[in-house]
Amino acid sequence: MRSPGCTRSICPGAFRRVRAPTRTSRSLVTITKSQLSSLHARWRYLSAEAVVGGIRGLVTLGRVDDLHILGAGPAGAFLALRAAHRGLRPHIHDPRGLRVWPATYGILDAQHLPSWLLPYLSAPYELRVVARETVSPDFHYRILDNAAVVEAVRQVAVVHTESVDAEGIRQLSSVSAASSALPVVDCTGAPRDNAAFQIAVGVVMDKAAEPTFMDWSPSGELPSFLYVQNLPDGTLFEETLLAHRLRPSAEEYHRVVAQLREQLRDRLDAQGVVARDAFDSAVLREEHVCIPMGTRAQARDGSVCFGARAGLINPATGYSVAHSAAWADTLLDEILGIRQSWRRWVAAQANKELAFWLRNLGAELIMRAEGDTLQDFFQHFFRLETQHQVAYLEGHNGLGVARTMWTLRKHTGIRHAFLQPLWRSPWRILGHTLRRGRRQCQASRRYTEKPR
Ligand SMILES: Cc1cc2nc3c(=O)[nH]c(=O)nc-3n(C[C@H](O)[C@H](O)[C@H](O)COP(=O)(O)OP(=O)(O)OC[C@H]3O[C@@H](n4cnc5c(N)ncnc54)[C@H](O)[C@@H]3O)c2cc1C
Repeated sequence: MRSPGCTRSICPGAFRRVRAPTRTSRSLVTITKSQLSSLHARWRYLSAEAVVGGIRGLVTLGRVDDLHILGAGPAGAFLALRAAHRGLRPHIHDPRGLRVWPATYGILDAQHLPSWLLPYLSAPYELRVVARETVSPDFHYRILDNAAVVEAVRQVAVVHTESVDAEGIRQLSSVSAASSALPVVDCTGAPRDNAAFQIAVGVVMDKAAEPTFMDWSPSGELPSFLYVQNLPDGTLFEETLLAHRLRPSAEEYHRVVAQLREQLRDRLDAQGVVARDAFDSAVLREEHVCIPMGTRAQARDGSVCFGARAGLINPATGYSVAHSAAWADTLLDEILGIRQSWRRWVAAQANKELAFWLRNLGAELIMRAEGDTLQDFFQHFFRLETQHQVAYLEGHNGLGVARTMWTLRKHTGIRHAFLQPLWRSPWRILGHTLRRGRRQCQASRRYTEKPR
């Protein structure tokens, strides 16, 4: 299952005091799980950071625990960086190896970004929203430096170019049981069955344009918006369908992509960016986006899920990268058995769960809305106080999301077309929401291979 030719690159500083790394190196100091939990019991009133520091100190005295991570996407990469920071030795398994992601990952600067992430982000800049009128939200935007993250991971992780299935997880976790009892972390992306899909067609052109988070001016049959970013090699114009239920066929996916491309061509013509006839020749490169949203996987024996696989993608934006970064340390705390108190932990889990279901309910309503309904809805949304906007766009604090929904209802009125399906067919909406959100056993690649 392991490829003999895996690349192995370990940061010289990270394991300086460790003997030659072997597969199950646990040489000078050994801590059993029960010792770790008694440590936890004694110190649970200390700050988590202090406990982490203590454990890290012991680790660097001579023990290296292997942490196996499946998937070299952003979630797996962030987890590897943070694991290495704590003195663990991350192993990343991915059939595509560790390569620089071609997608442009944007991050809202309003989010609670961990300080270690900041060096990997562009400087913050403003963007606008066009709904019925144009507004400048009170938060900024940043772009992830994919190459820098991947290079940093290369310095600290052992990379295995291989796919890992349930049997592979069992083998890896039984190896772990001998060395460290750490579960395998499954970051292999969101399940695609029953997903809502964010679908977009983006083109990079050598044309100047103002960065735009969402431009909801109508552009055609599909209720899509325009997203604009300035990149080093030009400007990215992306026609985006926020949430769409695909029938299970590749033809439907290709039909939607072709229609979005037409709408993008019409829109850029109408905005005077590039004439319809000159569109094709002006395209420097093109990307197609198909992000499964609202689903999460059942953890297989010996593993825990993280990133998009754990349901972190927010259907209001299609984003998960910032959340994976923000929660990497929380997951490591849980894996290492470090928690401040059960009560706080249970409250945090309940809050996350509430956020997950509310986000999915929102996605159901988005999928049923016409273009002008969405335009009006987002007009109201971007008039809310910034704290409410951010709570919804972050989408991981259930109480915050609920507060935003409640406040928004006051602005739109309960009869707004966006909310109508909720009153007309509540059982159908709830049924779809529940079906999508339940944990799935296996991801199936039912449509085409995910375009990147
Ligand atoms: C073009 C594009 C633009 C996007 N823009 C943004 C954005 O601006 N901001 C944002 O937050 N999000 C954005 N997204 C969404 C983005 O996909 C997800 O947020 C993010 O990639 C999820 O990261 P992940 O690491 O959880 O999963 P993925 O990125 O899906 O990575 C999963 C990895 O697991 C590997 N894998 C699969 N099966 C196995 C297996 N059996 N064994 C081992 N490895 C396996 C895959 O090869 C893959 O490398 C964008 C997506 C696309 C496609």
